[in-house]
Amino acid sequence: MFTFDNSYARLPERFYTRMAPTPVSAPTWVAVNEGLARDLGLDPKAIESNIDVFAGNKTPDGAAPLAQLYAGHQFGGWSPQLGDGRAILLGEHCHGDARWDVQLKGSGPTPYSRMGDGRSALGPVIREYIMSEAMHALGVPTTRALAAVRTGDTVLRQEGPLPGGILTRIAASHLRVGTFQVYAARDDTEGLRTLLDYAIARHAPQADGPMDLLRHVMERQAELIARWMGLGFIHGVMNTDNMTISGETIDYGPCAFMEAYHPETVFSSIDQFGRYAWKNQPDIALWNLAQLATALLPLIGDRTSAVDEATEVLEGFRDLYDRAWRAVMAAKIGLNDMNLAMELLDIMSEGQADFTNTFRALTLAPETARDEVTTPARFDDWCRRWQSAGPDHAAMRAANPAVIPRNHRVEEAIAAAYAGDLASFHALNDVLATPWEETEANRPYRKPAQPDEAVTRTFC
Ligand code: AMP
Ligand code: MG
Ligand code: MG
Repeated sequence: MFTFDNSYARLPERFYTRMAPTPVSAPTWVAVNEGLARDLGLDPKAIESNIDVFAGNKTPDGAAPLAQLYAGHQFGGWSPQLGDGRAILLGEHCHGDARWDVQLKGSGPTPYSRMGDGRSALGPVIREYIMSEAMHALGVPTTRALAAVRTGDTVLRQEGPLPGGILTRIAASHLRVGTFQVYAARDDTEGLRTLLDYAIARHAPQADGPMDLLRHVMERQAELIARWMGLGFIHGVMNTDNMTISGETIDYGPCAFMEAYHPETVFSSIDQFGRYAWKNQPDIALWNLAQLATALLPLIGDRTSAVDEATEVLEGFRDLYDRAWRAVMAAKIGLNDMNLAMELLDIMSEGQADFTNTFRALTLAPETARDEVTTPARFDDWCRRWQSAGPDHAAMRAANPAVIPRNHRVEEAIAAAYAGDLASFHALNDVLATPWEETEANRPYRKPAQPDEAVTRTFC
């Protein structure tokens, strides 16, 4: 089914632990992503008739299953050993010139599971499926969801016993900032150099040395975070093990799209101090990139000049990010005028206007955006100046989606799935696949949560 060529499995044995997923009792399908399957050169029918592969009950031909080692800073605190505690990389599927990691998430314990059971409840599988596919449809670099199954087994979580699930995740790779950190922390310079060469070959073949790779990752991350910001997306767990070298969004845990706009918005129940609030995301990206730079130092030679060189490279992030953010906001208001853009955000924050609907209203019928804000006089004044500058509405239509995965809709799909009904999940996926137009089908999904529906806390 897959055409595997497993370059990671050819790296030194200390980079991972070879092992197959742990079988489950009675797998049933939640979803097969037919569009993605075809993009990967796979036959959706062949996937459907091989549920055992996607449940971890059978290792497909050509796979070299393994759990990857990595480390990371979690909420700023150092964890010397993380790694795939509930995931197995089956291998790298190749099609045309492209190569993708195929990973099962929720596939059983590994040597990196620490206190965890290596499993995932169905809810987080559903959430990652919905969110990652929505992000893709919104044009944001992201890992993808190829398939999801129910395992037929129960997992124990704080909420009680829950049905288990496994997600098949597709990624350009699973290399993270934390993958570099683990070898740096172990003074394994040879491992670090091997990883550098591997990352360059896979993601930045034109890069010349560690600082060039750093620059490349910085560009990708600046671009990525600006896209998140422009959609009101809050990742929620921007730990260094959840930041990719490829520039793809990864690990959809307690993430959420902001509805009422406020820059300090946080959803994650585990983010007590708001470290990963919407407005902090660019600074956190830089903080994480500084950890990547630190990990790469041993590869630059002389220590003091290495620090100077890395610092100089990192100082470039502000400009990279500002440029990306300016481009995002220019498209959102149809004008290259950062002062006007920031003023609008300020007006929106005063009355906590709906982030998505305000920009969409401005795109289609500017006078209706007035209804979204609580200081209409201030908005009218802003709108007059904005209109007279001649905004580009076509650019706005391509930057301001009509529909995003609103939290209460995601939670509704999860609750229904737990009750055995996948209709809400499929309906939500369908409307999120075409986020750039108003349709009869997406009408109910464009409405913000009513006060009694609002989901203000999200859980992993
Ligand atoms: P995350 O917060 O999802 O990025 O995970 C952080 C670390 O915890 C990673 O090493 C995961 O593999 C591990 N982990 C999370 N949940 C589990 C689980 N249920 N069982 C084992 N390991 C887990
Ligand atoms: Mg090993
Ligand atoms: Mg993670």
